[in-house]
Amino acid sequence: MSLSFDDILDWLRTEDPTALDELFAMADEVRRREVGDAIQLRGLVEISNHCARLCTYCGLRATTRQQRYRMSFKEVLACAQEAVRAGFGTIVLQSGEDLGLDAAYLCELIAAIRAQTPLAITLSLGERPRDELSAFRDAGADRYLLRFETSNATLFERIHPARTPDAPSRPQILQWLRELGFEVGSGVMVGIPGQTLGDLARDIVRFGELELDMIGLGPFLPHPGTPLGEEAADRLLIPFGDMPRDEAALLPAPNTVDMTCKMIALARLIRPSANIPSTTALATLHPQGRVRGLCAGANVVMPNLTPLKYRTLYDIYPNKSNPSEVAEEGRGDLIRQIESIGRTLATGRGDSPSILRRRAMLKNPETNQ
Ligand code: SAH
Repeated sequence: MSLSFDDILDWLRTEDPTALDELFAMADEVRRREVGDAIQLRGLVEISNHCARLCTYCGLRATTRQQRYRMSFKEVLACAQEAVRAGFGTIVLQSGEDLGLDAAYLCELIAAIRAQTPLAITLSLGERPRDELSAFRDAGADRYLLRFETSNATLFERIHPARTPDAPSRPQILQWLRELGFEVGSGVMVGIPGQTLGDLARDIVRFGELELDMIGLGPFLPHPGTPLGEEAADRLLIPFGDMPRDEAALLPAPNTVDMTCKMIALARLIRPSANIPSTTALATLHPQGRVRGLCAGANVVMPNLTPLKYRTLYDIYPNKSNPSEVAEEGRGDLIRQIESIGRTLATGRGDSPSILRRRAMLKNPETNQ
């Protein structure tokens, strides 16, 4: 759907519940038509909480006093087997930017999962050099998630200090991932201190320009042990419903369920066939957060498969380890939630329709002239 910056901004500043219900219904209809009613389950395994970076939003940043762990090869493979038993089609390996996870080890791990399971493999390991990304792809990785976090370059520099002055930018890495044939996922946090409604509208435009296969959106959740978490504690939010567009564009973006759901809905409208999760951050913010996201355009859930002894240490934001997912019984809750809104559970890998089209084009370029 063609959505201009002004259209997007108008939706973002709308606070009228009837109008918002219309937006969510429209996105839900596009979701149903493009990717169907079956919800894709991706098993998330947080393989290491070591991190060399100093992102001001994240509880894993290098300087937090935090017990660190790195899962063993065997432990990760056991999680992959659990994902298969649970009926998931995808495993997502996520970590801090851990220099101790060397590329050869990761390639071996990816190849072993590929050889021993039918799972699609998604990586979310932060910024890695092009040759490593290429090796991961050759070893059998299918997808990569790397959020650009915000399209406001000044804000991004402030919250995500570069490791070295000449380090490749996230947009550059997203471009490499695409060239290497990965299914590419990106996204932003909603309601970062210093982020405006205009910034969020530009984020949506960027999702369209990047032609993303997957879009991850979650509310920013202040972590008290981080610089940004402390800054967020004394922030005032201003109601913006009746403001003229130009003024509303400059207002701070709130980190609420409503604003995140508006972003999910707009992401669905701008990238109709993308896989869009209803994120754990949204579920952490409100007990109905997960369902709200699924009814506003999302079609993916990422249940956490990280062994319990590590899960609480993967502390990117507070209360992340949602108890409703911790026990076997908790997973039943998730399924009940999904069924309560008339949706089903997908089987199979759940590749995005856009990557299937792109790969077919790479194979037969002359049929697509
Ligand atoms: N190291 C990897 C994985 C990070 S965790 C990377 O940087 O890509 C995945 C996502 O969690 C991040 O991209 C960020 O958008 C989100 N996140 C981190 N800290 C957060 C916080 N305090 N509140 C909400 N989301 C957060």
